[in-house]
Amino acid sequence: MKSHVKAVVIGGGVVGCSVLYHLARAGWTDVMLIERSELTSGSSWHAAGGFHTLNGDPNVARLQAYTVQLYKELEELSGQSCSLHLTGGVMMADSPERMDFLRLAHAKGRYLGMDTELITPSEAKAMFPLMDETNFVGAMWDPVEGHLDPSGTTHAYAKAAKKLGAEIVLRNRVTELTQEADGTWNVVTEQGTVKAEHVVNCGGLWAREVGRMVGLELPLLAMEHMYLLTEPMPEVEAFNRATGREMVGVLDFKGEIYTRQERNGILLGTYEKACKPWSPQTTPWEFGHELLQPDLDRIAPSLEIGFKHFPGIEKAGIKQVINGPFTFAPDGNPLVGPVQGLTNFWVACAVMAGFSQGGGVGLALSNWMVNGDPGFDVWGMDVARFGEWASLRYTNAKVRENYSRRFSIRFPNEELPAARPAQTTPLYDVMVRDNNAVMGDSWGLETPLWFAPEGTEAKDIVSFHRSNDFEHVGREVRAVRERVGVTEIANFAKYQVTGPGAEDFLNRLMTNRMPKPGRLVLTPMLNEFGKLIGDFTIAKAGDERFMIWGSSAAAIYHMRWFEKHLPKDGSVRIHRFDQTLVGLSIAGPRARDVLQELVDEDVSNAAFRFMDFREMAVAGAPCMVNRVTYTGDLGYEIWMPPAYERLVYQAIKDAGAQHGITDFGMRALLSMRLEKNFPTWFRELRPIYGPFEGAMERFVKLEKNDFIGRDAAAKEAKDGPGLRRVSMIIDALDADVMGDEPVWARVQGKDFGTVEPPHGYGAPRFDASGTETRLSKADHGASSVRGLRDGDWSVVGWVTSGGYAHHVGLSMAQAYVPAALADQESENLFEIEILGERRPARITVEAPFDPGGDKMRG
Ligand SMILES: Cc1cc2nc3c(=O)[nH]c(=O)nc-3n(C[C@H](O)[C@H](O)[C@H](O)COP(=O)(O)OP(=O)(O)OC[C@H]3O[C@@H](n4cnc5c(N)ncnc54)[C@H](O)[C@@H]3O)c2cc1C
Repeated sequence: MKSHVKAVVIGGGVVGCSVLYHLARAGWTDVMLIERSELTSGSSWHAAGGFHTLNGDPNVARLQAYTVQLYKELEELSGQSCSLHLTGGVMMADSPERMDFLRLAHAKGRYLGMDTELITPSEAKAMFPLMDETNFVGAMWDPVEGHLDPSGTTHAYAKAAKKLGAEIVLRNRVTELTQEADGTWNVVTEQGTVKAEHVVNCGGLWAREVGRMVGLELPLLAMEHMYLLTEPMPEVEAFNRATGREMVGVLDFKGEIYTRQERNGILLGTYEKACKPWSPQTTPWEFGHELLQPDLDRIAPSLEIGFKHFPGIEKAGIKQVINGPFTFAPDGNPLVGPVQGLTNFWVACAVMAGFSQGGGVGLALSNWMVNGDPGFDVWGMDVARFGEWASLRYTNAKVRENYSRRFSIRFPNEELPAARPAQTTPLYDVMVRDNNAVMGDSWGLETPLWFAPEGTEAKDIVSFHRSNDFEHVGREVRAVRERVGVTEIANFAKYQVTGPGAEDFLNRLMTNRMPKPGRLVLTPMLNEFGKLIGDFTIAKAGDERFMIWGSSAAAIYHMRWFEKHLPKDGSVRIHRFDQTLVGLSIAGPRARDVLQELVDEDVSNAAFRFMDFREMAVAGAPCMVNRVTYTGDLGYEIWMPPAYERLVYQAIKDAGAQHGITDFGMRALLSMRLEKNFPTWFRELRPIYGPFEGAMERFVKLEKNDFIGRDAAAKEAKDGPGLRRVSMIIDALDADVMGDEPVWARVQGKDFGTVEPPHGYGAPRFDASGTETRLSKADHGASSVRGLRDGDWSVVGWVTSGGYAHHVGLSMAQAYVPAALADQESENLFEIEILGERRPARITVEAPFDPGGDKMRG
């Protein structure tokens, strides 16, 4: 065993082996994997070995597509078979809602370059004759699904890594991790200590224990999971003989079942409602190659439906029931990346579908470690997406909810109840009990979504279509636009940056100039590759003091970036407030009248201008006030310590009564931003887009100084962006866009050339030398739009978010399309596919509400 290496990977499951292989492939060959026992000694050995590309997050789906296409290459490199069976699979819908869900997934697949197809139950039965197709209303076919040998695949990664020079040490547990002053990690093992620059936690079932070695409580939990194997079945053998093919994989949402052929019998697994965590606090080190006691009673309800849906299987004898544990994060996606607050400590754990995701996780993490950037939009699996609130108990409740709902539909207006309320503001009771608010979960914080009038139940009816909140959100929007409204905005991230180096530091990080004292600016933040990694409002509150507001979901993600770039000389300090600073926003034409009544200072338009910042007493409470709101109307954000929030809120309501003040929630706020063409962080603005693609050029001052990402941004400006964010108006019926719908365009006498396959398919990837390469069609089977003929319809872009803009009365979307099309406002050029129906759409370059910005400035 070497005593010094560049990186130690802890854990020899499929994920650790993939990370090791990808690090070596990226040029870090001085790497060592340390495994407690033998390879696959955690979850990996007893997995059902299924793989697929579909995922609710298109960016994760893309990494799954990469994983699947990697296997052939891996077999060739390692000489080890993965026993690949690329059978394809069908997903069965038993209800119209599930069919809507499949239509959405199919539409999303269109712009991801996936070849899914909507088919009839009879067509599905032809591929899996054991089903009774009368139980279903439709199905979706996905050709890129199948199964493999979990052990063979893990060993294939390991062998390929070894061929590239990586070392694997078996039967050697890592017992302790310490770090020296220069950052070097001491990886203490049963066989001695290894010094490493980087440590990666791929501990799988023991990832929590490895995290605890460095004081981390990772939000993951193992769940028991069962699948059964039948005796050989004559029907299966007959099908194979007659068709020369294997049966396809089947996913039955209603029965919470997946099933497929295994040898000449059937494998059937469940995600049962009565799910059971395994070892909720600690994982015993002695646990190894053993299985858990099967408990068929627990999965009986699923089996009952399964046997009704697949009567052919009921008749077969059960040969074996496998029950094994594997880990989940609260939302079911992996935890990957560098950990904020630590240096060179990386995680790749909670990978619940290691054989669908392991390759993509290894690629993204190795890119990140070697080149400083994952090369993809990995937000959906970034370990930074969970805050301190994701405790052991929170994780337990959420993982159980997620597991039991794995095959349930998540509607776009559906808020999930587990582990709530977690954080609340002082106004929680007022909002819920007095104001009849429907609350949502915003990064662990309860936030009002909309308010039900007296006599109306404060509850969402979940749907893909417009629902019961529609008229009430409309009423809230009209109240703001016509009079004045008040809303809670505690769900922002808030930071204070102080010290003699504060201004230089922010100038280095941000694309916009820093404000003068008492003023605000809006500014994006870029990574070295000129991609959007943040969008903030910044106030200069004092000589060496700045206040920053951003996305709360990205608070840890941004802190990690800020800390990475803090000067070493201590000249800058940064403080994250979380809920020690809360906020209220008042907006609408009467907002100034309300504020003026509550303050002793002059807040007339001349004295307190648009984009001014001032510290002043509001209703006697010490507050910071920003003259800006996300509604795009005249308005203010008022920030205060939570102890004052009830006082200020009540004073606003009292002063606003004569103006007919109305409470409004997040949904009204998001509706209002739509008619102003304002983007949102993580929907429109993400690390796969440049600032010019994101139409953020007003806030990018290339000449100001050498900020991070400037050269890449300058290149984007010079070459012109390939894509462009646009606002669109849709002739929708009773459903608005939810995000991720494909945008179709008809080429009319215009050649807009080759369009990169959208949604990050064109995102940068970096090879070992740090040179940017692009994922090509060959990488994952995506198709680009080439050589279109006049009059052809084709998918050219994708929706990022949207909804109904109540004040202007329009169904709207924000979308990315090829830049050459971004100013084409004509009718009949675009269509947006909503729930399987292509609806006419058009671009609107100007915001439908107050395009000149007179209201917010007035
Ligand atoms: C019944 C069942 C069916 C499944 N079916 C599928 C499926 O069809 N498709 C799919 O994609 N996934 C499936 N999975 C999930 C899949 O098994 C996991 O996603 C995958 O195994 C996770 O791999 P891992 O490398 O993260 O973790 P693990 O496999 O748990 O590996 C972690 C490794 O780290 C080692 N380790 C931990 N701590 C230390 C230490 N301190 N020192 C040294 N070594 C250490 C352990 O010994 C272990 O070998 C299934 C799981 C189960 C239980």
